[in-house]
Amino acid sequence: MLSADFLHLEKDVELVNEHADLFHLDVMDGVFVPNISFGFPIVEAIAKKSTKPLDVHLMIVQPEKYVDRFAKVGADMISFHVNATEDPAAVLAQVRSHGVQAGLVINPDLPVESLFPYLKDCDFVMLMSVFAGFGGQKFIEETYDRVRALKAEIQRQGLNIPIEIDGGVSAANSKALAEAGAEILVAGSAVFKAEDPAAVIQQMKA
Ligand code: ZN
Repeated sequence: MLSADFLHLEKDVELVNEHADLFHLDVMDGVFVPNISFGFPIVEAIAKKSTKPLDVHLMIVQPEKYVDRFAKVGADMISFHVNATEDPAAVLAQVRSHGVQAGLVINPDLPVESLFPYLKDCDFVMLMSVFAGFGGQKFIEETYDRVRALKAEIQRQGLNIPIEIDGGVSAANSKALAEAGAEILVAGSAVFKAEDPAAVIQQMKA
């Protein structure tokens, strides 16, 4: 939703309701990432109109201070970065205590191994395929190998949790990502900047 039209947010919410599977909301604090996006009022406003789950991606330091409030305003999934907190396992448990799905995220410069100790505590995991903080960046090609390595470890641990990909995802790479083992694809500008956003979503889902 970072690429949505904030002056006509309801129109873009309806587009997602009708054609996509979930709302991905990028919350940035200007500290963990060099950008500031939006917070509780926008998440709450979207929650009121959404008929699809709200996937709140926290790019903030100390997510433990805010997960309770994001759960309260309507998040169905909350993810945060593994290096944004002292005790990721505790924050994952905190998210789950609200009946919300908990996810861990890493930027492209952290090895996928940094997620391995926490996989058993996650409902999903997310790989950034650009550096967190801005929309409209170019997709990093090494992501495919990272998906395959992460998928192999998830299976080795006997788990069944989806891998989500965030950043530079479009109809041009969605098929290869799915083949590598990704199950949730986040697209922002590829959808909202398209002539026919619904068609792009359908193309990616196909
Ligand atoms: Zn995101």
